[in-house]
Amino acid sequence: MTRETVYLDYAATTPTDQRVVDAMLPFFTQRYGNPNSLYELGRDAHGALEQARAAVAASINASQPGEVIFTAGGTESDNAALIGLATARGRDRGHVIVSAFEHHAVLEPAHWLGKHGFEVTELQPRTDGVIHPEDLEAAMRDDTVLVSVMHGNNEIGSIQPIAALAEIAHARGALMHTDAAQTLGKVDLDVRALGVDAASFSGHKIYGPKGVGALYLKQRTPFAPYLMGGGQESKRRSGTQNVPGAVGFAEALRIMDEERPTEAPRLAALRDRLIEGMLGRLEHTSLNAAEASERLPNIANFIIKGVEGEAMLLHLDAQGFAVSTGSACSSGSLKASHVLLSIGCPQEFAHGSLRVSVGRHTTTEDIDRFIDALVPIVGRLRSMNPLYERMVGTEG
Ligand SMILES: *Cc1c(COP(=O)(O)O)cnc(C)c1O
Repeated sequence: MTRETVYLDYAATTPTDQRVVDAMLPFFTQRYGNPNSLYELGRDAHGALEQARAAVAASINASQPGEVIFTAGGTESDNAALIGLATARGRDRGHVIVSAFEHHAVLEPAHWLGKHGFEVTELQPRTDGVIHPEDLEAAMRDDTVLVSVMHGNNEIGSIQPIAALAEIAHARGALMHTDAAQTLGKVDLDVRALGVDAASFSGHKIYGPKGVGALYLKQRTPFAPYLMGGGQESKRRSGTQNVPGAVGFAEALRIMDEERPTEAPRLAALRDRLIEGMLGRLEHTSLNAAEASERLPNIANFIIKGVEGEAMLLHLDAQGFAVSTGSACSSGSLKASHVLLSIGCPQEFAHGSLRVSVGRHTTTEDIDRFIDALVPIVGRLRSMNPLYERMVGTEG
């Protein structure tokens, strides 16, 4: 990353905070014991690991530290939750509900379950970018064993009514999981208030290290371990624990919690300045999930009619701006975002989406420079698109 890069893709990843790196460093070369070893070096590492676990548990209001399992990231937490909850106690059939706009780390294991004895329903959000409780109610069946709906959507930023959804799942005897990778640290996240049995988190979305995550698993929740071996993490996730990673995750979350009272409103103001500037200066442009009643403070996703998202991204990149079209995982493929299609965005416009996500180092100047750069790029791309007039003329 060059010094001049204006990074506006914090929903894809974040730079690791220097304070987090400093907290982690001793655990590589000095306090390197295996936390499962009984001698002093091991006990020291074990103490640090358990301190990190207790801190994460307290932050999310888990009822005990043992409900937090450290993993190798959001993807592992999602996979472990979907497969581990659905197949617990040797179960090999049943009905699973996931929302249609989940991250692929939830959708793919759901599809795997669908090929291995389970029936899977993909529940559609409405055009506001929200899964409505009455729609879940209608999709529930007597044999529904698991419902998984993400807390904050990583592309459009809408926040889901998880507590209401969990109540519906539980009333019919199903377990409830939520992928909270985008909300952790950004909203006051309380797993007991959400009423979920399991929740997934990722370190690198909160200025922590990549390749570290956590899974909240409510005590006594039936769970089939996904990684088997030495029985670490109370037999729920084998493998020698990533002690520096766990310490870094906990420190990253501590900083998020400490700074949120001032940082969340600051980010929301930057996001709103961006939305106002984009909609004010670009015609035929709209904000996705604008009607959602609750939104993440840091993500805004736009449809800019008559331009390809990839073309905008590359022109912006050439001028030092890092943004995303759809999710980072799906770029490289030219498929329209499944998230935008799920909220009813027509295929031809879904290709013209731009996701801008602000973060700890974003300034108002960054936002203004970004819009100043984007406006002429969009103008040029539209003037080269022979279909532009027709595309905006046919809008309903
Ligand atoms: C980033 C992200 C993931 C994946 O987390 P990794 O740590 O990158 O594996 C899963 N779900 C959501 C909503 C995310 O934003």
